[in-house]
Amino acid sequence: MKSKLEYIWLDGYKPTQSLRSKTRVETDFGGTLEECPMWSFDGSSTLQASGDDSDCLLKPVAIFPDPDRASAYLVMTEVLNADGTPHESNGRATIDDDDADFWFGFEQEYFLWDTKTNLPPGFPASGYPGPQGPYYCSVGASNAHGRDVVEDHLDLCLEAGINVEGINAEVAAGQWEFQVFAKGAKRAGDETWVARYLLERTAERYGLAINWEPKPLGKELDWNGSGMHANFSNGIMRESGDEAVFNKICEEFGKNIERHIGVYGANNDQRLTGLHETQSIDMFSYGVSDRGASIRIPVGTVEDGWKGRLEDRRTASNADPYRWRQQLSRPLRRVWLKLASPVSIEAPAARVQPELFYVHRLQALSRVIQISDFILHCCGAQIRNLVQNASGNAIAPRRCTENIRLHCLAIRHILVSLLHVYTCHRVRLMTRLSSIYSGRGCAD
Ligand SMILES: [Mg+2]
Repeated sequence: MKSKLEYIWLDGYKPTQSLRSKTRVETDFGGTLEECPMWSFDGSSTLQASGDDSDCLLKPVAIFPDPDRASAYLVMTEVLNADGTPHESNGRATIDDDDADFWFGFEQEYFLWDTKTNLPPGFPASGYPGPQGPYYCSVGASNAHGRDVVEDHLDLCLEAGINVEGINAEVAAGQWEFQVFAKGAKRAGDETWVARYLLERTAERYGLAINWEPKPLGKELDWNGSGMHANFSNGIMRESGDEAVFNKICEEFGKNIERHIGVYGANNDQRLTGLHETQSIDMFSYGVSDRGASIRIPVGTVEDGWKGRLEDRRTASNADPYRWRQQLSRPLRRVWLKLASPVSIEAPAARVQPELFYVHRLQALSRVIQISDFILHCCGAQIRNLVQNASGNAIAPRRCTENIRLHCLAIRHILVSLLHVYTCHRVRLMTRLSSIYSGRGCAD
């Protein structure tokens, strides 16, 4: 029995990477990730290596059945250098906090694109269709353009086990959206990229391409751009019930606008103009139900007693969800550390004592996590150094260093989970005690 394995990877083009893939035929393949062998490709043809040293490696990281081909699978891979280290184009390998406690929902907008007219379907060869208004969530041939592609894509994603949670026609003619939800940053990124791959391949059959640019019809015209609104939450956000947690996260995001925008997709300045339900690229704001804000606090989060998710509305349709997630790590880590800060000395002693129980543990955990970050940084630097000076003697210490790194990473994950649990308990306690000492309610 022969099986077709489609190895998918991201190329080295800048500023926006594209999807590449090639088929490998295996005999008696059982359908598991463990059975997928490492593979290689010509990196000089994808801007990932030079011609005189062109081999790059493909490391399988996720597998899905391929419902569009007989006896076939889709294999998402990471690109490695020939020595086994992550390639610089490998955004997935930059994620150092792949915690399933984090849930992600990406709202992927895109334009179907007619390669003959170089316009979306629904646009006449010259001029424009009627102005925006009737296209969003539309039905009927006058306003909904390209539904066949969109429906086929949805069916394929569901059959492949990709957790697409919905689709809709978008504000501009020929513009659509699908939504992916997953737990864990790497899984969310894998599913989003494979869904993008299936969309590109499905559209081929209809003679259409997918335009992932955030403003393909130009900045000046009154046509919406495409984003990838990124929703996220973790246990603390879903359970604490404290407005302050959400405000702190939003405020941290606002401190590093440029660093965030740097990985939110190329040409995003065309889209983030302050018009068409966006905030300006150089401004930051957040608000409940505010679709013109950088971060929207969904009304459901507030109505559920400040339990739920946030929506980062700045991410462009061509952003890499892996790199977006990694950029999220630093501000969130600062928030968790702030939540672990000591209680106010003005607080009543009866309030301070129970809270100190959590504060001491949170501070200790934070310090140990900082130490483990330092060890991970040193191990990474040593491995890179040994690889660069590769010799027979370097192999043994490299393995040893890699083992230390992996153990340290595992311990760090446990510590971060504990930190989240303690923070959550502390926030609940603070809310309860605030209620008691402000005389606004009872302990329940
Ligand atoms: Mg949308």
